[in-house]
Amino acid sequence: MKPFALDHRASTETALQALAQGATAIAGGTNLVDLMKLQITTPERLVSLKHAALGEIAQDGDGLTIGALVTNADCAADMRVREHWPLLAKAILAGASPQLRNRATTGGNLCQRTRCGYFYDTSQACNKRDPGSGCAARNGFNRIHAVLGTSDACIATYPGDMAVAMLALDAVVLTEGPAGPREIPMAQFHLKPGDNPSRDNVLEAGELIVAVRLPAPTGGVQIYRKVRDRASYAFALVSVAVDLTMEEGRIARCAVAFGSLGTVPWRDQQMEQVLIGETPSPVLFARAADVLLKDAQGFGENDFKIPLAARALAATLNDATRTGKA
Ligand SMILES: Cc1cc2nc3c(=O)[nH]c(=O)nc-3n(C[C@H](O)[C@H](O)[C@H](O)COP(=O)(O)OP(=O)(O)OC[C@H]3O[C@@H](n4cnc5c(N)ncnc54)[C@H](O)[C@@H]3O)c2cc1C
Ligand code: SF4
Repeated sequence: MKPFALDHRASTETALQALAQGATAIAGGTNLVDLMKLQITTPERLVSLKHAALGEIAQDGDGLTIGALVTNADCAADMRVREHWPLLAKAILAGASPQLRNRATTGGNLCQRTRCGYFYDTSQACNKRDPGSGCAARNGFNRIHAVLGTSDACIATYPGDMAVAMLALDAVVLTEGPAGPREIPMAQFHLKPGDNPSRDNVLEAGELIVAVRLPAPTGGVQIYRKVRDRASYAFALVSVAVDLTMEEGRIARCAVAFGSLGTVPWRDQQMEQVLIGETPSPVLFARAADVLLKDAQGFGENDFKIPLAARALAATLNDATRTGKA
């Protein structure tokens, strides 16, 4: 690891000043420290957010504001989250391990980097790590890679679980930075790779996530299904987050988001429109999957994700519509 300076006593204000001067934020450190050890990132100055006042979960009208420094463990254990936004608790608890969740934070989780093996192997070509060097994954080992939202430059997934649930719940990311405060809908927070995969999200230089706001709960049935190689301590191959309400035997409302399928947490409003107003059936779920996956493209090893996503969607919708029958 390269030498670096660490400011571990910063308040939110002094952290923002340090970030504006080029420092890098460190929260739980569960991703950043790995990246520093591998010299994928080599910040000269780190500012720890540990003493910034960003660790509260607060009622916000009918919604909830989750501070950027709230740990994944605390968020998943919060009784308000468990009761009204259980999708979020389920998604968080499906991720990582208890030890990691005790350190990992809301802000850090949203900014975690891809798990593409070539990104972590500095001897390999990777446009995300080293712009212009190429993409070793396209014709390489790409079993965990994306089938939606890819570009010639990069096919990596955003690998996290929490953001997928937040996307289905219409969460908003609250930031502070040199240009003032911003409210960024979760659907706009992560960036598809396009020509510049080095940028994972819309945060500008010096901008800090201060919280995530959940709008009022929908009261729908909420299910998170994570398909993975091991039952725990594994990233998703495909995950599905559903928040759905039934009325008189039909799907009255639904929000469906997918993890590890696209280059960003993925939501398809056209697919949701196929479902809304209809009576649940295997034929309907297959029609929805066709809309979702019409532009999906595999790269060899990850071709299986396309039928897997269709099956995971059908199974999750089946569970949600049976549970939520009204
Ligand atoms: C072995 C292993 C297994 C894992 N499995 C899963 C899994 O199954 N599912 C899953 O979702 N995740 C998984 N993770 C990832 C883990 O959830 C993330 O590493 C963690 O959430 C990152 O949070 P952190 O607070 O430690 O971030 P840090 O490592 O401190 O920071 C990560 C990045 O976020 C930036 N950052 C941090 N806070 C802020 C802020 N407030 N504003 C702006 N930028 C900020 C940092 O500068 C850095 O770039 C796993 C990690 C490991 C190591
Ligand atoms: S998929 Fe993206 S992260 Fe992986 S090697 Fe290609 S450019 Fe790098």
